[in-house]
Amino acid sequence: MRDGDAPFDALVLGAGPAGTSAALRLQQLGYHVLLVERSAVWPRAQVGEALTPGVRNIIELLDANDALAAVPHVAHAGSRVLWRGRTPELLQEAGSAIVDRGRFDAALLALARRRGVEVEQPARLLHLAGAAGDWRIGLLCGEARTRQVRARFILDASGRGAAPRIACAPRLAALWGEVDQSALPQLGGATQVEALEHGWLWAGCLPGGRYRLMLVCDPHAARQAMPATPEARLRAACAASHLLRAAADLPMLGAVQMCSATPYLAPDCWQDGRLKLGDAAFALDPVSSSGVEKAMRFSLQAAVALHTVLGDARPDSGALARRFFEGRLVEACARHAHWTEAYYGQAWCAEQPFWQARARCVAGVRGEAEADREADGDAAESKWPELLANLSAERARLAGYQPPELRPLASLNPALPLRLHGDAAIVELPCVVDDRVCLHQALDHPHLERPLAFLENEALFPHLARLAQPLPLAQLLHMLAASMPGHKAQHIAAWLWQRGLLESVG
Ligand SMILES: Cc1cc2nc3c(=O)[nH]c(=O)nc-3n(C[C@H](O)[C@H](O)[C@H](O)COP(=O)(O)OP(=O)(O)OC[C@H]3O[C@@H](n4cnc5c(N)ncnc54)[C@H](O)[C@@H]3O)c2cc1C
Repeated sequence: MRDGDAPFDALVLGAGPAGTSAALRLQQLGYHVLLVERSAVWPRAQVGEALTPGVRNIIELLDANDALAAVPHVAHAGSRVLWRGRTPELLQEAGSAIVDRGRFDAALLALARRRGVEVEQPARLLHLAGAAGDWRIGLLCGEARTRQVRARFILDASGRGAAPRIACAPRLAALWGEVDQSALPQLGGATQVEALEHGWLWAGCLPGGRYRLMLVCDPHAARQAMPATPEARLRAACAASHLLRAAADLPMLGAVQMCSATPYLAPDCWQDGRLKLGDAAFALDPVSSSGVEKAMRFSLQAAVALHTVLGDARPDSGALARRFFEGRLVEACARHAHWTEAYYGQAWCAEQPFWQARARCVAGVRGEAEADREADGDAAESKWPELLANLSAERARLAGYQPPELRPLASLNPALPLRLHGDAAIVELPCVVDDRVCLHQALDHPHLERPLAFLENEALFPHLARLAQPLPLAQLLHMLAASMPGHKAQHIAAWLWQRGLLESVG
């Protein structure tokens, strides 16, 4: 039990998927959490209803399956995708679903409350004083009640909004509205995705018989172009499309809405005692429909970072937790930007300016300096050079990475000793072990997309350090098998050989 005046371990601002995932995970790890949600309307409307299959693992880790069972959802009925060519491809993605996001977020918040997370809603921050480890926070709860609390950490999961932000790609805007699904029987409930010359369309069934139409485009071009209103623009895009032409003249079930969809990163995501999570830390291009999954996953990583700082007395635990947290953020943004650029480059209309501007990095031409920037991004770059240099380095690494051609296993001569390939290096990597961050040795090599500390859930080190000197294969297998099942030892040796990470000596 927490004594009434004792500080909370963490105060989380915002009860979207990022905030509730962090709160639930921290509560599982034994911490006292106060979750503050501003919205008085609850469940509140929220865009971002298509959930990728990876959300399931996270829900399982949070033990939230039962709590989410009653959330209205539509199982994925396949997608018709008109992207690479002029004929639609039919895609099935097992495990994905479209949910009522308001109810999804509300069910997670109700679960957090039941598990012992304290919740203030509607409430907002009035003032903040103190410092890391002992924040003093004034809250306005409801219309008139004020409450003073203390917290060791503040986690900002308040969504898209606050600067500074570094745009990770040229600006994007999203415009969306809904029509009655029964007016489009020919679509068979399938999701539709279509590349148009000046943007792309996404459309899919929402729970309750509504059909969402969403246009993603360049906000400048959209403003300059006729017709001027968001609804007219959305209708014009449907009319110009191949898959959604029938929706162009249907009555809308409410106003067409518009928001920024530019991918960005908040370079101040880790400040002493204050962390940003979810959309407050980074936003991805909505083309992958994976924002919710990535926001939730990052919150789990943030909980591990916090657990390391709060529960680990080693003097370097704070620096290590920060390195891990920022590293995961950079990795998420860089990987997604890399994937998105390749995907934009595959569109049938990839030579159009909208597409070229978003696919340029694939050809290796686009540097960060050319990226369109939001808010005070330039100032942020000079203030957080290390994080941004890491982002550029990660993007360059991904852009330059070529998967190796696999060597046949038959080329491995068991009579010859093996050692690590000459280009291999042993580096130290922040890894999660028992819910805490620790430094682990990892193998780095140009044939690896990123340094590797574990393979098949088994630590590669200290074993591989012995391969600085030649070692017979039988001895390598014997050494690996001392800490893992024999078949895994064999797989690992084969995996390393096939990718050219080991070389024969003799
Ligand atoms: C157009 C568009 C389409 C998208 N489509 C998809 C999709 O199909 N699939 C997908 O996975 N992702 C999608 N996304 C991304 C997804 O919506 C976000 O990644 C996700 O909502 C992020 O969750 P979050 O918890 O960080 O923020 P949010 O979901 O925005 O939650 C933030 C919460 O904080 C509260 N809040 C705000 N300010 C305060 C404050 N000061 N104090 C207290 N509380 C506060 C808000 O009321 C809200 O409840 C899309 C994004 C856009 C822009």
